[in-house]
Amino acid sequence: MKYDILIENGLLLTMTEGLPVLEDGAVLIMGGEIVASGQSKEFSGYEVKTRINARKKIIMPGLINCHTHLPMSMFRGLADDLPLDVWLNEHIFPAEAKHVNPDSVEQWSCHSCKEMLLSGTTTCCDGYFHEAGVAKAILFSGMRAVAGQGVIDFPAPGVPDPKMNIRTAVEFVKEFKDISPLLYPSIFCHSPYTCSRQTLMAAKKAANDLGVLFQIHVAETKNEIDLIQGLGSMTIVEYLESLGILDSNTLMVHSVWISDNDIDIIKRVHANIAHCPESNMKLASGIAPVPKLIKAGIPVGLGTDGCASNNDHDLFSEMDTAAKLHKVALLDPCVMDARTTLKMATIEGAKAIGLEKITGSIERGKRADIILVNTDKPHVTPMYDPYSSLVYSAKSSDVDLVMVDGRILVQEGRLV
Ligand SMILES: [Zn+2]
Repeated sequence: MKYDILIENGLLLTMTEGLPVLEDGAVLIMGGEIVASGQSKEFSGYEVKTRINARKKIIMPGLINCHTHLPMSMFRGLADDLPLDVWLNEHIFPAEAKHVNPDSVEQWSCHSCKEMLLSGTTTCCDGYFHEAGVAKAILFSGMRAVAGQGVIDFPAPGVPDPKMNIRTAVEFVKEFKDISPLLYPSIFCHSPYTCSRQTLMAAKKAANDLGVLFQIHVAETKNEIDLIQGLGSMTIVEYLESLGILDSNTLMVHSVWISDNDIDIIKRVHANIAHCPESNMKLASGIAPVPKLIKAGIPVGLGTDGCASNNDHDLFSEMDTAAKLHKVALLDPCVMDARTTLKMATIEGAKAIGLEKITGSIERGKRADIILVNTDKPHVTPMYDPYSSLVYSAKSSDVDLVMVDGRILVQEGRLV
């Protein structure tokens, strides 16, 4: 039997239980699937079509960006250093009304896919308007992605009549549901302060009926609670739970301003979190209680958010930021250690978006979403602990090879 690809002679981090580190590791791939991993010598007699020498490189799962708005790379650097409400209402919403159309969405989503692939991201979870353009860009790029059509109770790009917001999202999901095994359509409600309770409930019901991920920005800023009608004495998490919005198929983005009781609710209903530390820092939104969420056993993935609030899709810098932010916030250098942080960018991210059976770790039966990181560079030398090196020293520019579903999309640091 002739196998498709053998990646060999690398330092293998599978991100599986116990986080093993295998020197002189190898991964065998057939038909886009990981069929075995182990030490290179185990595969010495195997016949393979393509051998990839990973000497002086780390072999690891591709990174997972749990929250993006891919077309927003067109607004990178447009309005920086402003409060979130001013940034959103006076700059981003007007710019979106003017510049966002099917062509620009597809074009800038392609651009974002290039940026993500070159920096080692193999899967993203997106939400925006004209999401068909995002979906087309994802299909073109060869990446794996969840793509969520935006729902908001205002006239939005492609949805001038808000009464059509849920129907548009449902049509999007139906159009793209079975088009490619790499694309997972989804419904993305902007937030509890821009969607009424009726909209939230109808959108969640539609997502459940269609069997797709429901995404929503939650408790991003401190004053968000004042903007939601009919909240009474409830917290935002209590409100969403009372509407039946939170379950294992819901991704709560940000979740900065949540209480200990809210964390208990999120744990009980098995909802998931996307943590976007750089966006939260840049917009001075606050610091999400991530160490507490992780301690509670809640899946927490890492996201960059859109390029207008970050201003990049670089998960290597996001990992470095996440690890350090929580240490300084809690005055505790032991929280968010490198292993926990790297899990957030791989296997925990996969869990948060419901793809843990497909990607997020190097395991027999999973799809071959794999990256090689070059460690033969001064800023990563010496390497006592590869997890620390990846989180604190490595740069996205050290990504040498990127493979999605067994297809090589980046080689020697260049798009193929
Ligand atoms: Zn966002």
